Amino acid sequence: MKLTTLGCWGAYPYKDEGTTAYLLTGHDGFQFLIDCGSRAVNELEKEISPLDLDAVIISHYHPDHVADLGVLRHYFQLYPKHLWEPKVLPIYAHDEDVSEFEKLTLPGVSQGFSYNTSGTETIGPFSITFIKTVHPVVCYAFRIVEEATGQVFVFTADTGYFEDLETFAAGADLLLADVYLYEGNENHIAHLTSKEAGLLAQKTGVKKLVLTHMPPLPPKGMPTENHLEYLRNETQKYAGNIPVELASPHQSWEIGEC
Ligand SMILES: [Zn+2]
Ligand SMILES: [Zn+2]
Repeated sequence: MKLTTLGCWGAYPYKDEGTTAYLLTGHDGFQFLIDCGSRAVNELEKEISPLDLDAVIISHYHPDHVADLGVLRHYFQLYPKHLWEPKVLPIYAHDEDVSEFEKLTLPGVSQGFSYNTSGTETIGPFSITFIKTVHPVVCYAFRIVEEATGQVFVFTADTGYFEDLETFAAGADLLLADVYLYEGNENHIAHLTSKEAGLLAQKTGVKKLVLTHMPPLPPKGMPTENHLEYLRNETQKYAGNIPVELASPHQSWEIGEC
C-alpha cells in the first residue's frame, strides 16, 4: 500500500499548506482518505479525482481533521451528473459525538458508518483496529493491515503519550505520529513530543517513523527557519537506529518497501 501526504500541519493551515489529510492507496487501487483537514480536497485533486475516493475515515472531529469534509460532500453532491456515475461516499468515524456523526450522512451523497472500536473493521483491502487516544475530545488511532500483503501502517492521530500505544504500534512498517511539541513538554494532554515519538518508535521496533501534525511555527526563542529539522533531530536522538522523516505535502511512501 502507498501512503501520500495531502496535509501535515497541526492545528491550522499555513502558507498555502493544509492540515491533516492522507491518501492511502491499496495494492488493488482502493483509494482511502484518512482525515480531511483544510485544503484536503485541493491537494487530493493533484493526486486523483476526489470522485474516485472509495471511502473516508476520520480520527476525531477537531477542525484541523474535518475542515474539508463539507466541501468534499459538496463535490459528490454537485459535480455535474452527466459527467460521472454518481455514487454514495462512505465516511467512517466514531459516533461518540452524536451531532458530529449525524452530519456525515447526506442522503444519496455520503453515508456515515460508526467504526467498531472494540473489534476489527474491514474497509476495502484493509483490516483496521482502533485505540482511544489521550486528547481533549474523543479520538482514535488506527492500526491498518493490508491483508493481501501483510503490510502494517499505524497512525497515532492526535494523542498525548500513553503506554498502550506501544503495543498498538508494535512492529509497524510505518508509524505516522502526531509530533506537535518539542522536547520538554512530555505528558501533554493532547499531543506527543519529539522525545516521546522517538522513544515510541524505538520501543515498538517500527521500520520507519514519519512525523506529522507538526507545528507551523516554533516556540518563542527558536529561529523560524529549519525549526522542523530541529524537531526531527530531537526525535531521531530518541529513536536510535529507526529512521525518522518529516512529512511534506505530496510526499509518498510505499509501505513495506520503505
Ligand atoms: Zn489536530
Ligand atoms: Zn485534535
